[in-house]
Amino acid sequence: MVRYVYEFAEGGREMAGLLGGKGANLAEMTRMGLPVPPGFTVTTEACRAFLATGSAPDGLDREISEHLTALEEAAGRRLGEPADPLLLSVRSGARFSMPGMMETILDVGLNDESVLGLAKVSGNDRFAWDSYRRLVQMFGSTVMGVDGALFEDVMARLKERRGAADDLGLDAADLAELVEAYKELIRDRTGEYFPLSPAEQLRRAVLAVFDSWNGERARIYRRREHIPDDLGTAVTVQTMVFGNLGADSGSGVAFTRDPATGRPGLYGDYLPNAQGEDVVAGIRNTVPLDELGRIDPESFSRLRDLMRTLETHYRDLCDIEFTIERGTLWMLQTRVGKRTAEAAFAIAGQLVEEGLISEDEALTRVGGSGLARLMFPRFDTSAVGEALAHGIPASPGAAVGAAVFDSAEAVRRAATGEKVVLVRQETTPDDLPGMVAAQAVLTSRGGKTSHAAVVARGMGKVCVCGAEEIAVDPHGRRFTVGGTTVEEGTVISVDGSEGAVYPGAAPLVDSAVMRYFETGGQDEEPKGLVAAVARAMRQADGVRRLGVRANADTPEDAARARRFGAEGIGLCRTEHMFLGDRRQLVEAMILAGTDAAREQALDALLPLQRQDFVGILEAMDGLPVTIRLLDPPLHEFLPDRTELAVRLAAAEAQGSPPSTHDAELLDAVNRMHEENPMLGLRGVRLGLVAPGLVAMQVRAIAEAVVERKRAGGDPQAEIMVPLVDTVEELRIVREEVEQVLAEIADRSGVALSCPVGTMIELPRAALTAGRIAEEARFFSFGTNDLTQTTWGFSRDDVEAAFFSAYLDKGIFTVSPFETIDREGVGRLVEIAVAEGRAVRPDLKIGVCGEHGGDPESVHFFHAAGLDYVSCSPFRVPVARLEAGRAALPGTNGGDTR
Ligand code: ADP
Ligand code: MG
Ligand code: MG
Repeated sequence: MVRYVYEFAEGGREMAGLLGGKGANLAEMTRMGLPVPPGFTVTTEACRAFLATGSAPDGLDREISEHLTALEEAAGRRLGEPADPLLLSVRSGARFSMPGMMETILDVGLNDESVLGLAKVSGNDRFAWDSYRRLVQMFGSTVMGVDGALFEDVMARLKERRGAADDLGLDAADLAELVEAYKELIRDRTGEYFPLSPAEQLRRAVLAVFDSWNGERARIYRRREHIPDDLGTAVTVQTMVFGNLGADSGSGVAFTRDPATGRPGLYGDYLPNAQGEDVVAGIRNTVPLDELGRIDPESFSRLRDLMRTLETHYRDLCDIEFTIERGTLWMLQTRVGKRTAEAAFAIAGQLVEEGLISEDEALTRVGGSGLARLMFPRFDTSAVGEALAHGIPASPGAAVGAAVFDSAEAVRRAATGEKVVLVRQETTPDDLPGMVAAQAVLTSRGGKTSHAAVVARGMGKVCVCGAEEIAVDPHGRRFTVGGTTVEEGTVISVDGSEGAVYPGAAPLVDSAVMRYFETGGQDEEPKGLVAAVARAMRQADGVRRLGVRANADTPEDAARARRFGAEGIGLCRTEHMFLGDRRQLVEAMILAGTDAAREQALDALLPLQRQDFVGILEAMDGLPVTIRLLDPPLHEFLPDRTELAVRLAAAEAQGSPPSTHDAELLDAVNRMHEENPMLGLRGVRLGLVAPGLVAMQVRAIAEAVVERKRAGGDPQAEIMVPLVDTVEELRIVREEVEQVLAEIADRSGVALSCPVGTMIELPRAALTAGRIAEEARFFSFGTNDLTQTTWGFSRDDVEAAFFSAYLDKGIFTVSPFETIDREGVGRLVEIAVAEGRAVRPDLKIGVCGEHGGDPESVHFFHAAGLDYVSCSPFRVPVARLEAGRAALPGTNGGDTR
């Protein structure tokens, strides 16, 4: 029989799938003997059942009331009991942390009677009424659907009448008045009364939390973080503790290390006389955690001990929520904290040094997407000039964009391709779409744990918060600082590493990590972040089985790729060798009426191609260079059809004789026009029907090899045939290649062995890989085309037309062009690997599509047994790191922070 409810003492951190991260970690802390207010958690399974059917699953109500009874018995108080009420919080919490994205309802159990009892037992009227008004407000907006801003308005009007600066300026009578006003607001808006029955409050709050899984914020966040839509949230029901009982109480959040830089030492914010949600909401200014050491030294030192205990237990950075109720410390939440890429590398290194984790484990704590972020350029601090303002460096990086003052404007402008910086006093969960759309977030209030900071770090977005010098005027759509006014649309630069804002577009320089890679990792004594990155790279290179090559078409790219650690070239495209000045020669080849004319054109191209290959083979001396024969359709090298037609028509209109060259060209273009070039005359098909093309390219490669050998080099060229469908195509081309190679070996007296292989980029090729392997020495998966042809997607057409709708509808959580589609395209890869190797056990297999540099895809290729991945030079370090992580047990590509 299914169980839907677990008491804290029955769970543990390993149960996050069922209890959500929050429930699982509360259980873990309970198990560790930490001071956690007692409670129980309703499983994600119950939520999924509710979301599927629209009603609570059978037995859930009964299980909840049984657990409630147990809780009441242990506490010696009953939920909402008039004289001395037990109060509860009803909290959301999914498998993956989604901070602030779903709902939580506090102080459940208060009503017109129990508020009086609470006042009496606490000896604090104000506190009781403050708690009640919080409940009505949260319940009204979250459960009953009244716009939260309306409650804020009512409160703001009352504060104004009372001349109160913040909520502390309202007394018990004011708060009681507020409760009445809120209740009226609810009745007004919903036609329903605020429920006074504690049991009904609890039941409805649980269902509302289930529902909040599908709230807009939560959905946007999941899409952005690639969290599946069908997990559901757990609901944790917990005894309330009160930080709003007076000056000896309060709430705070804390990290065991700085989540922005990784620097060791407690880090956080504290707010006296407040309930937890006030801390991140920014209704009053928090104080740094150190301040708690003066306010309440005993609780502070207790907190420090508990945090050390947690960090040692979790062996990682922990982030916690705590509340102090009249001098007693309570732990309300912990999780392995989100951190910036910089902090991830720094902390992994520190934990190894502190003996808490092994080098291998440290490698699981960092990831390729973080590394890629660290390779982005930074502002050139020697050239940026005077800063406009300074704030807290909450999430590092350099961003330039037009200032915008609300989420909608950010989204609107970003949709047109404009880069924007979202400037707010403070962000709320409603700003999420704008934060996603913006390059950076700048706020004038809030600390490192404010909403803006937490969310930006989670997304890897640049963020400066608490820039108090700037006065944000969201209605006037501008901000002022000193004597300067910055209107909406003005470009500013935000430095999230230094916490500075500059006017205009500040100049950029390479990051230290990039400089490290650019010097081929030869940096004498890397320090700080660079040392942490170097350490992870060393470990990854030591454990990885996958080779890493680069896609490079020029000697410069090849040299850079080599510095970045590439072990060869997995894809050298030859198309650009036919562009620029050489286009004319290609035109001549296409237009050639006779064999002689065609040969003449090809002969002119040959030495140019040879020179290209010599340069690349030299840059990659001693390492394999896989050269792909010409792939795109020939008409791509001819002028545009319309342009030509217009040119001819214009000449005719002016009465001048039409150019015969243009006329011939137009004729050729018309002849070669294809409705669907992607599926037309390209790849191996071209080589089979355009006489001399393959021979010319192979001759250029072979002669380049000869030249390099004569110069004492060690060229390792491999010849790759694109877009093969059937083994017959490859057989014919391979025979031609071999013939040319033999000829040139003969003529030059230099032994030539260039393995011939093929791309596997069509489903038919994958499905007949066993046959194709008879003719191929190697396979390279062209996963871009393989994705297009497997899905029947023309990439350029579908991405703009409907991919965002597909992502919205959850048809996929990530574009199959970004991360390999394991189920479909991946299955073809697995079939081809198995059947190819069955025929030729030493078949070398790699991938050269863009997926070769995508962290998650690298894990798939490792598991599929490929020999190497090949990606753009800048992704090479990312691929090396992920290939290392993929080789460790227990990492399956899920977590690539
Ligand atoms: P989120 O996932 O958005 O952080 P939480 O469930 O953690 O939501 O709750 C929101 C706030 O309410 C937090 O600050 C938390 O500390 C506070 N809170 C939750 N449960 C309790 C409780 N039992 N007693 C006091 N404060 C609580
Ligand atoms: Mg929380
Ligand atoms: Mg292709």
